[in-house]
Amino acid sequence: MKHLLLLGMCLSFFSLWSQDKVISLYPEGIPCENDLQMEVREVRNTGRRIMKVHNPELAVYLPAPGKANGSSVVICPGGGYTVLAWDWEGTWMAEWFADMGVTAFVLKYRLPHWESESCHDKVALMDAQRALRTVRMKASEYSLDKDRVGVMGFSAGGHLASSISTHFDDGNRESNLPVEHFSCRPDFSILMYPVISMDTSFTHMGSRRNLIGENPSEEMVGYYSNEKQISAETPPTILIHASDDRAVPVENSIAYYESLLKFDVPASLLVYESGGHGFSFAKGKGAVAGWPDACKSWLEDQGILTKKLKALIIEGQNNHKNWMETTPILSRQLEETGLFLVDVVRTPAEGESMASFAPDFNLYDVVVSNYNGDPWPESTKLSFERYVESGGGFVSVHAADNAFPEWKAYNEMIGIGGWYGRTEKDGPYVYINDEGEVVRDDSPGKGGHHGSQHSFIIETRDETHPIMAGLPDQWLHTRDELYDQLRGPAVNLHVLASAYSDPDTGGTGRSEPMLMAIHYGLGRSFHTTLGHLNESMHCMGFKTTFQRGCEWAATGMVTQPVPDSFPGTDEVSMEDH
Ligand code: ZN
Repeated sequence: MKHLLLLGMCLSFFSLWSQDKVISLYPEGIPCENDLQMEVREVRNTGRRIMKVHNPELAVYLPAPGKANGSSVVICPGGGYTVLAWDWEGTWMAEWFADMGVTAFVLKYRLPHWESESCHDKVALMDAQRALRTVRMKASEYSLDKDRVGVMGFSAGGHLASSISTHFDDGNRESNLPVEHFSCRPDFSILMYPVISMDTSFTHMGSRRNLIGENPSEEMVGYYSNEKQISAETPPTILIHASDDRAVPVENSIAYYESLLKFDVPASLLVYESGGHGFSFAKGKGAVAGWPDACKSWLEDQGILTKKLKALIIEGQNNHKNWMETTPILSRQLEETGLFLVDVVRTPAEGESMASFAPDFNLYDVVVSNYNGDPWPESTKLSFERYVESGGGFVSVHAADNAFPEWKAYNEMIGIGGWYGRTEKDGPYVYINDEGEVVRDDSPGKGGHHGSQHSFIIETRDETHPIMAGLPDQWLHTRDELYDQLRGPAVNLHVLASAYSDPDTGGTGRSEPMLMAIHYGLGRSFHTTLGHLNESMHCMGFKTTFQRGCEWAATGMVTQPVPDSFPGTDEVSMEDH
């Protein structure tokens, strides 16, 4: 009984780290398919060794829940292009990455040694390229950042990792296979005692023979001598090697490193006096056992271990028919900060049943609404209220403050809104008087109006708020609608910026709130009235305040610097896009 209990505990402990899934690389059929039967052998202390790979796959290792930072790595175990040191240089490394919050994919690639004359030099690189594309294609499924997909390789697997780092493409949009549309360029490379060159003076002869045969053409030797294939596009790289490596001379790493320098590619080279070849974690081997810590610091420097904020943009209905164009603008602007991973959810269309619309808001640090349409199901409204109330971030963009006139809690989150029957029954008008005081005005009348579209000056009303800190007192916003006469509960509402609504353009003659911060329960809400036209969103003023507002709503802080291109009062400033 005791044994059973212990066994149960072991199983549950290891299930934390167990492989979560296996992904076949070629569900459509394997190119260059062989008729091999895979063999697996257990080798003392180093785990499984795999030979005669038939079906190339990725074994997935996920970080513990809540630990994932959105980065990922494809790991290429070594073994001289004859075997795969599957655990020693594969799954055990994957566990290390998962522990750092990086989702790891161990690549079971085909081994040139066992392959036919026509395929032996092609299969491994083909599998690695497909592996990178597959990870990018599955980025949403695994909540991964498409711009932080790296590669790690050991020995001959290091040759493969350096091959994919120098022989990549952006994908083929014409292909019938969606996976082929994705880039196969790694965003970073970790090369462990790698075979780099096919130059006989310092290559690893076994790997060379297996990959390109006894009598390769000069062209093929050059193609697979990766130190000769480096360009400015080669990803940032760290190389780790021991001087006393008798199998793969350290000159391989040195040649690659020197070539990276020539092309100004960020590069680190760690050479240890001793360690030999194939040391994996090098536990108990002296100084070389420090490489994982050094590598972790390097990953930190590259921003690979930074945890990204998760944003959800809601779209699907809007009286602004350009919503299918504005959501991608908002999404890109958030991703450009480098702080956010963005998901987009689309509601059912106008008039259709909303019953299926039930996103899990709690997965997100901030929810952005680009939605103005039919009411959500009661259960979805409630879960959204609980999400914001308990500390979730919310951002309302332009016409999202027209939405849901009947939903009390939503109107408290946006503070004030307009149109769709809003009147004095919904709360006061809010504007700024000549003394600069925020007025809550209960006089009767319709809520929500704007004059003709034009470019106008926006005035900061609280330069101490994190969203506004460092922005100019006044700046010129590009052509947009200037909302006026918004009204609502206006509880816990703080006006961050306003604009003068000029009677000459059909306005009120008052300073109207443009940017607002609202607290709803423990949640932070940022309300921008700006953004009617696509062009309005391309204004650097819109973009910067939107990006900063989302970070504040998500975290309460703003770490983004104010861009040099932020507009002054003389002329508008538009983003490059
Ligand atoms: Zn509008």
